Amino acid sequence: MSFDVVFLGVGDSFSERYSPTSLLLRQGDFQLAVDCPDGYRRVLAEARAKAGLQLDLADIDDVLLTHVHGDHMNGLEGVAFFKRFAQGRKLRLHASAEVHDVVWPQRLVGSMGVLFDGVRPVPLGYEDYFEPHTLPWGAPTRVGPFTVTTRRTRHHVPTSALLVAGEGGVLGYSADAAFDPDLVAFLDRADVIIHETNLGPAHTDLGALLALPERVKAKLRLVHYPDAFDVDGCALRCAREGDVLTVTSPK
Ligand SMILES: [Zn+2]
Repeated sequence: MSFDVVFLGVGDSFSERYSPTSLLLRQGDFQLAVDCPDGYRRVLAEARAKAGLQLDLADIDDVLLTHVHGDHMNGLEGVAFFKRFAQGRKLRLHASAEVHDVVWPQRLVGSMGVLFDGVRPVPLGYEDYFEPHTLPWGAPTRVGPFTVTTRRTRHHVPTSALLVAGEGGVLGYSADAAFDPDLVAFLDRADVIIHETNLGPAHTDLGALLALPERVKAKLRLVHYPDAFDVDGCALRCAREGDVLTVTSPK
């Protein structure tokens, strides 16, 4: 009993080396994209080659958006257009109410709010492309076969850290977050914790993670690191693109 996490990207917004941090959770036939960087089909194809898995956007109908920073959501327009034009369906979008409030009127409407039908421009709205599902803070919510619980992180904009309970185990994901011992305590309910590390006041300094108890450090996989980060020399385990993590409870 387990589910899998594919690391599609492990980098930050400024990276030359890595795709922006994004995950694909897979259980049975269900796939949940956690965040949606630009060039999403290329990101999937690169992870497909590295992981040796059959990954295809046509099979992904659910995206969970942790927050509206571009490195986490700039692929949403292309993915939603693909769903509409190539597959004739809507994308299920799982996010906090705060994200739903801004993602259309402040991010997407300028490029997606009108389509030319060959004769005239036709206005479209959020729900013409998306099936919005709200993740209430702190309340366990069903997303496909998973139960997702969110906690707001310390970041520039409203951002959801996640506990994802699936078949056989629980995954914790910090999303973008300044270091916060209360957030670590929330994530420590999981069997494995994917935690960000990067520079600046709205991200988590590596030193803070290195100072955590050994028991917690053993659960960590680092993502969202800058290009200069010493992946090979780091005392904590760093995720690499194409890695597949199996989430399962120790028996
Ligand atoms: Zn961010």
